Order: sequence, then structure tokens, then C-alpha cells
Amino acid sequence: MTIEKKSDTPDIRSLGREDLSRWMSGLGCPDYRTGQVLHWLYGLRVTDWDQMSNLPLTLRRSLSESFTIHVPQLVRVQGSRDTTCKFLWRLADHSMVESVLIPANPALYGDSSDRKTLCVSTQVGCAYGCRFCASGLDGWKRNLSVDEIVGQIIAVENWHAEQTGTPGPVINNLVFMGMGEPLANYKNLLPALRILNASWGMNIGARKITISTSGLAPMIMKLADEPEQFRLAISLHGATDAVRDRIMPVNRRYPLQQLTDACLYFQKRRGKMITLEYILIEGINDSMDQVPHLARLAGKLKAKVNLIPYNTVDGLDWKRPAVEVQEKFAAGLREQGVTATLRREKGHDIDAACGQLRLRTEKETPSSAL
Ligand code: SAH
Ligand code: SF4
Repeated sequence: MTIEKKSDTPDIRSLGREDLSRWMSGLGCPDYRTGQVLHWLYGLRVTDWDQMSNLPLTLRRSLSESFTIHVPQLVRVQGSRDTTCKFLWRLADHSMVESVLIPANPALYGDSSDRKTLCVSTQVGCAYGCRFCASGLDGWKRNLSVDEIVGQIIAVENWHAEQTGTPGPVINNLVFMGMGEPLANYKNLLPALRILNASWGMNIGARKITISTSGLAPMIMKLADEPEQFRLAISLHGATDAVRDRIMPVNRRYPLQQLTDACLYFQKRRGKMITLEYILIEGINDSMDQVPHLARLAGKLKAKVNLIPYNTVDGLDWKRPAVEVQEKFAAGLREQGVTATLRREKGHDIDAACGQLRLRTEKETPSSAL
């Protein structure tokens, strides 16, 4: 059975357990059949109906007539199996998105284990146009669907299994820090998060799932009201409105006071520590003037700070500061009692800043070939 995405046929992974169960009971199937289908999809990650060998042939036929299982096509992999590895996927409409597989790093989001973190995309392009970011350079194209978000994790798991010959899952941490603004695609993000988190789905603990946002204050509050304990990271990159306004247009809409209030609300509702991401960009936000403001904000939010040396982007003039400047900034924060990590960007050599691989590939390849 070939699996081609037809625009009018939904991908089965856009359905939650209840939707699927309803559809199956409409066919007169007993409920355990739903569990079997889910196990094939997420436990065994098969992408072909013919492999679902314990389902009756008639059910397999009905499933294949009503749903697709779209497999994103791998355009490029950069990096190696044991280090940071970046994937460029082509989706059914030929749009391209990236995912990055990162070895476990206890100091950041993961705990120490041999498992890995996957950085996931949520949109094709980005509408928020942060001045330093490759993802927004060509603007926003569209939201990813639920199955396209979940499909990235499944595709990387299957790639890894193929490479190593071991079928077990390796991803136990997800960070929504790929291309796009996750909270601007809330309607698809949340059902995808639920499939990734569910015991019948990919079974990744909510505490192991971090959603990063450039600061969409009302959506942060919405996320705070959900029952799951997802983690939140804020792309701050400036500790005053003056600096943020200069590099992140979203700050004019939701200035720091509003963003801080939303974070406080998130914390009150969830009781979770927030992470503040702060890219260090030479001459923009790396002056020691920012340190007391950042320390105050981190103190107020009881947040830890991840300092990330800027990754240069083709076509943009921004630079990462010298290592001494980075270390002085980190030390300044620590002196003020802030927990701050300085990330040694593992993927610098492979364009780890999301959006770059796509831009470069689109430039190198005639559009007819994409
Ligand atoms: N839109 C969301 C999530 C995607 S961006 C957000 O902004 O949080 C993921 C992270 O990568 C953000 O913290 C972003 O600011 C950072 N980033 C973007 N371009 C970068 C670059 N060139 N070097 C280092 N980090 C970068
Ligand atoms: Fe979009 Fe995030 Fe990049 Fe800003 S940093 S342009 S919000 S992806």
C-alpha cells in the first residue's frame, strides 16, 4: 500500500486517542483495536498499514482509505550519530523544516543518560522577525499540522533505529526551539504535545518537554492553565525594553512588564522553574549594563539563565562576543546570585541555529528540484 498524502485525507496522527476510538467504534471495532493501532503508530512507529499485522485486513483497508501516514522526506543530515545532528525535512507540500538531535546535556534540559534531546519545529518560517534569526528571514509560510509536529520525532527515531540497528526509542527530551513560534501555532501545538506526552503515544514526560517562546504573553497564560506540567523557556535576549525593542519586534506588542507578569502567572499556576534564554550578541546585548537588569528579572521570576553565544547567520552582520566577554557576563550574573549556564554551542559548525540549513538549501537548489 503506498502512502501518499492526499490533501483531502487526514493523517491518522492528527487524531487523539478519543477521536480515533470514536472512528473505530463507528466501524464496529472493539476498543482494544484502538490500542493496537496506537501501539503500531507510536510504540513501534510503523509507517505502513501492511505492517500492522494483528489488524484484520478489512480494518487495514478502511484505515488506508480514510487516513494517510505521511513520512517527511529527509533532504539532508548534517553532523554525526554521536554528536549534534541536524535534519532537513521536506513535507508533503514541499515546504522544508528542520529538527536537531542533541546528545543529553544534564546542565541544560536533560538529565544525565544516554538518551537524546530533539529540537522540534512548529512552523514553516516565522512571522516574528527577530533581527538575528534565520527562521524569520523569509517570513512566515504556514503552521505545521499536528502530524507534522509529531512526525519529526517519529522520523528521527526511525532514522536512529536504522543507523544503529537498535529499534528502542532514544529521545526522552523535547525542546520546541526549532523553526517558528510554537505559541503562535497553539491549536496544533497542544494536541501534538498531548500525543507526545500520552502513555498511549510517544510517552515523553511533560517535565521533559520545553516550549520556547519569544514572549507571547497571553499564550503563556493560556499554557499555564493547561493541566500538564510542560516547561517554559523565554527567549529574552535583552533585559531592558530598549535592547529588546531593537532586536525583537514582539517586544513592542508585549513589553517586558507584560511578559514578566505572564511568567509570574505561569509560575504561580505551574510551580515550575522558567528558563530565560539569552543569546550573547556582540555590541547589542553583551554589555555589563544588562547584567543587573537581567539578574533582577531572573530573581523576580526565580528563573535560571541560559547564555548562548550567538551563531552567525548567512546574510546577517551579527557576531558572537569573545569568550572572555561571554565569561565575564556569566560571572557577573553569578555574582548576583543567578544560576547561569554558558552554553558551548555544540552545533556551531553545522548551522545549529534553526532556519539556516533550510535557507541555504533553498538558495543552492533550483526551486523546481525542491
Ligand atoms: N520562536 C521561539 C522558538 C524558536 S527559536 C523562540 O524564539 O523562543 C529557538 C531559540 O534559538 C530562541 O531562543 C532563539 O532566539 C534562538 N536563536 C535564533 N537565532 C539564533 C542564532 N543565530 N544563534 C543562537 N541562537 C539563536
Ligand atoms: Fe521566530 Fe523565535 Fe526566530 Fe524570533 S527567534 S524569528 S520568534 S523563531
